[in-house]
Amino acid sequence: MTDSFFHIAIDGPVAAGKGTISRLASKKLQFLYVDTGAMYRMTAFLAHANKIPYSKENKIVELIKNSTMEMRNPTKDEQDGRLTTVFLDGEDVSWKIRTKEIGQGASKVAILSEVRKILVKKQKIIAKNKNVIMEGRDITYKVLPKADLKIYLTAKTEERAKRRLLQFQQKGFSTSLEEVISSVKRRDTRDMGRATDPLKIVPDAWEIDTSDMDIEEVVDLIIERVNKMRAK
Ligand code: C5P
Repeated sequence: MTDSFFHIAIDGPVAAGKGTISRLASKKLQFLYVDTGAMYRMTAFLAHANKIPYSKENKIVELIKNSTMEMRNPTKDEQDGRLTTVFLDGEDVSWKIRTKEIGQGASKVAILSEVRKILVKKQKIIAKNKNVIMEGRDITYKVLPKADLKIYLTAKTEERAKRRLLQFQQKGFSTSLEEVISSVKRRDTRDMGRATDPLKIVPDAWEIDTSDMDIEEVVDLIIERVNKMRAK
């Protein structure tokens, strides 16, 4: 155990189901759910809003340092399908950060090592002295290297693209499966190929392929494992 708190670290590629599964498991376990991707998305949102190119590290670092990022579980009034409520400088940007542009931008600012350093530090602080389920790309080895349970959640590319397409359609964005497949592949390539903290499977991670599983099945599998570990 990590002190007396239980830390679950989940990594995996885009649209593997990390958010939905973590959110549901966190509710059942009464753990805090932390979506670290939202922090990279907020960073991209800041750059975009200030017309700063996603590659301008110094300017982006300055923007983050002068901003506040807050995240919490959605309240009763916020049951509109969001998994987490996100405030940037006090403004609720929970949906504004979920566009295609900001998704691609997030994977571009995530290449910048100074940006990662700042966000990883914030994430470590959030997890301190709490039971958490934290998901992202580098949680199992960088943010929570001593996590009690490490999971690598994945699914076939086409399956992930279908899920992402459905999410876009529900939000009213028009796009095609082909377009989403190529955007998912572009993000995977960037996330796995970057020099700093790339997405990878660590040897002590439990790999779950969710291609042929439904969400509830995956959640139950994780809860069962956590309960067994905590009962020891
Ligand atoms: O998880 P989500 O798709 O919202 O993440 C957006 C982007 O943020 C990812 O494509 C990835 O480039 C970046 N990210 C990261 N490290 C994390 C979480 C997200 O690099 N821990």
